[in-house]
Amino acid sequence: MTKLYLLAIALLFATLSFAQQDVKQKEIFYLVSFPNAVHHEAEIVITIPQAPSGAIRLRVSRSSAGRYATHEFGKNIYNVKAFNVDGSNLVIKQLEGDLYEIPEHGETVKVSYTLFANWTDGTYASVDPSHAHLNMPAAFMWVVGQDKHPLKFEFNDLDKYGWKVATQLKHVGDNVYSAPNMQYMMDSPTELSAYKVNSWEVDNNGKKEKINLAIHSDDDQVVIDNFAKQIQRMVLEEKAVFGELPAYDYGEYTFLDDVYPTNSGDGMEHRNSTCIVHPAAKVEGNELRLISTYSHEYFHSWNVKRIRPKSLEPFNFEHANMSSELWFAEGFTQYYGEMVLVRAGFHTVDEYTRTIGGLVNQILNTPGAAKYPATQMSRYSVYADAGVSIDPNNDANIFTSYYTYGGAIALALDLRLRSEFNLTLDDFMRTVWRNRGKVMKPYIIPDLQSDLAKVTKDSKFAADFFNKYIYGIDKNNYEALLAKAGLLLRKAQPGKAWAGISGAGQVRGRSGQARATSDEGIAIQSSTVLGTPVYKAGLDAGDIILKADGKEIKDMQAFNDIVSGKKIGDKIVVNYHNRTGEHETTITLEESPVLEVVTYEKAGKDLTKAQTDFRNNWLSTKVK
Ligand SMILES: [Zn+2]
Repeated sequence: MTKLYLLAIALLFATLSFAQQDVKQKEIFYLVSFPNAVHHEAEIVITIPQAPSGAIRLRVSRSSAGRYATHEFGKNIYNVKAFNVDGSNLVIKQLEGDLYEIPEHGETVKVSYTLFANWTDGTYASVDPSHAHLNMPAAFMWVVGQDKHPLKFEFNDLDKYGWKVATQLKHVGDNVYSAPNMQYMMDSPTELSAYKVNSWEVDNNGKKEKINLAIHSDDDQVVIDNFAKQIQRMVLEEKAVFGELPAYDYGEYTFLDDVYPTNSGDGMEHRNSTCIVHPAAKVEGNELRLISTYSHEYFHSWNVKRIRPKSLEPFNFEHANMSSELWFAEGFTQYYGEMVLVRAGFHTVDEYTRTIGGLVNQILNTPGAAKYPATQMSRYSVYADAGVSIDPNNDANIFTSYYTYGGAIALALDLRLRSEFNLTLDDFMRTVWRNRGKVMKPYIIPDLQSDLAKVTKDSKFAADFFNKYIYGIDKNNYEALLAKAGLLLRKAQPGKAWAGISGAGQVRGRSGQARATSDEGIAIQSSTVLGTPVYKAGLDAGDIILKADGKEIKDMQAFNDIVSGKKIGDKIVVNYHNRTGEHETTITLEESPVLEVVTYEKAGKDLTKAQTDFRNNWLSTKVK
């Protein structure tokens, strides 16, 4: 190969790269108007300035970052039309429910459509004269293959309704906002309303991060201002876990909050914002309930939005994104979201024992956690996380939420790091933050194991922990670990007979079942749980219990009264009805496995100095 030839190649590459730079990607422009807000409609016109030659496609998302099941957003998008710049019509074909194709067109193409939106939560959209609450995947079609193009939004009718714009999109003038690409746009929920604001700055490595609270609710400004003081405390407590705040894009983080009685309760994390909705009349009086959603979602601005599993990066908006890491991304976030509220003084240790009790029951007492590892339960999120279906599932026997499963693992790891290494889970989270989140290197599970090995300087411990409790179904010794902090794990209903029946109710008025018109009996409404006396007796959903212990059963109370009059090991003969006729079975009563956690003080046990110190180190404020 000659030098001249090499030079020619070098020149060729140089011209190519120049040529590429010359073709600047122009913004895809969304004009958003609300002529029919009273009937929950928005009108959207998309201008695509650089439509590639040949057929182009536009699609509606089927998933939403952070909400792991599929959602048919396409059902609420209609009147889809395409035009040339001169307004003349173009042919547009609907290829699938949510996929459209324009076979022939000029360089610039316009597409218009109507959005129906009437569900206020962290995933969907709602439009009415009080607001346009826009979670982007639910509201905006996108151009297939142009996900790297910048985007611009203009929001019309703001004056008409008295709305302002709250969003993590970049403000570029008047009512115009921009996003560098589709992924960022999808991550930027936008609330148009007469919301109230409180903003403050937090020192962060010599710089300032601005935090905004934008709340659409029926509260006075003073309520918002007082609530903001509580949020400030929470923010600083979480900052103390990682040692710093993330450097937010454009230097700002915004809590978008919508409080109204008909809202669905929800919170959804984003890189520089969170969308929180709460079903209540006002913020006032609900501050404590709200703050646990705030603390969970805010923790996500480190853990999941930046400490990001590779399985979710980049997010695929065409189908459910399956992840084996949600026990960490959601579970560890769940643990911290609750625990920092104790550190920040919002909850007492006594109150916190109920949360711990919930975590421990989930990991030790559910068939899902007994049979399947946390990784597998994470993958089930594609069905569990607001998944929509009309047929029942067998969640009671095959699923334990990765929130609580992972939260219980975080609890055990924190207590073990404290008792075996003189370290804390905060040390581990800081290491993961430095190695993964801060440098934006998406992780796989072995990366977390390697970080645990680094923190503990004990790769054997890390391997053992991951093999047993993450990939495996072994359980930590919670009783011994909690005792280090002077917390007692014990049976919640010791010595009491228990049948394990749940989800049962009267059949009266129910339709669609053989005995539904009967006034007799109690119908079991959902799957009985593996291992319970009622499951062992062969009873399941749809069975109608007519008699127990020879007595007619008209309601749940009558059944409970019979059980409470018995001892552990006693048998109850049950007569029941189902599609195959009338049957008889025997329930052998057991002791309930349900556990509770109480402080040693409450249990009348002595608390040692070591236990007091351990508990204080764990649960006292870390804000200096
Ligand atoms: Zn979460």
